Amino acid sequence: MSAPAGPGRGTALGADIGGTAIKLGRLDGASRAEREIPTDPDSGSGSLAERLSAAWRELLLPGEAVPPLGIGCAGLIDAGSGEVVTSANLPGWSREPLADRVASLMGRRPVLLNDASAFVLAESRLGAGRAHGAGTIVGLAIGTGVGGGLVIDGRLYEGPRGFAGEPGHMPIDLDGPVCACGARGCLEAMIGTRAIQAAYARRRREATVHTPREIFERAEAGDAAAAEVWEEIGAILGRALTGLTHLLDPDLIVVGGGIARAGERLLAPARRSFAQTVMAPEGLRPTIVPAALANAAGWIGAALRARDEETP
Ligand SMILES: [Zn+2]
Repeated sequence: MSAPAGPGRGTALGADIGGTAIKLGRLDGASRAEREIPTDPDSGSGSLAERLSAAWRELLLPGEAVPPLGIGCAGLIDAGSGEVVTSANLPGWSREPLADRVASLMGRRPVLLNDASAFVLAESRLGAGRAHGAGTIVGLAIGTGVGGGLVIDGRLYEGPRGFAGEPGHMPIDLDGPVCACGARGCLEAMIGTRAIQAAYARRRREATVHTPREIFERAEAGDAAAAEVWEEIGAILGRALTGLTHLLDPDLIVVGGGIARAGERLLAPARRSFAQTVMAPEGLRPTIVPAALANAAGWIGAALRARDEETP
């Protein structure tokens, strides 16, 4: 697919390591070519690095020098050492030196970053942010986990130690359910997949676990309990976005991830609770929009991050 060039030209290769598939691609200006290979996490980081490098090489032109390389991965990433510290998608991986392994195969060291940071960078330059002409963006990717990131004045803000942009672990309810991180009532524990499932089971007074997709479909079909769940989850999301707006005054808030496929079922109540609680007057508030790049955002953002490293 091709599109008019966005800000910042140049070629880069990106990859997004998911639980079952690695999405990878080549970015030239704003045009892109992409493909997918299986993750196969059990075969280890050496095998993954080999298969990724081979797939990337197929995207190079004959005789072309290896361009900047970027890899997005869920979990705890040590960008400085280029290690995947831990990742729920890669069970058994512990401080895997993925950047070193890829560097030895490609002759160029890749930039490693969190997949949600990659998501928000891609959305800011080539997705929702581009359409809205936004420079400062908060992105949330809502699924089983709630990831996120910050782009400030067009650049990804990662913090001095690389741990910035974790809105999923902002405390929302001090007495709330225990989060995957061990704390109580984080945003992730309040609006992630498990929270949605629990909210529906509570209303139905039943033990059966329904997927968020089923709960969405039931809401669309007129199930009042299901509709209430999306109202409740959206209202919590809106309050969290108020907090982020008071801190950062963003131009735009982008909501993506699997749960965001509920669209206006989620975003309409989020916008309402946001409007009720945000201090900024109407006209001076960020717009809340759905993500635009679907699941290509991860590899595109990783490629953009790698390109930024070349042109600081
Ligand atoms: Zn947490």
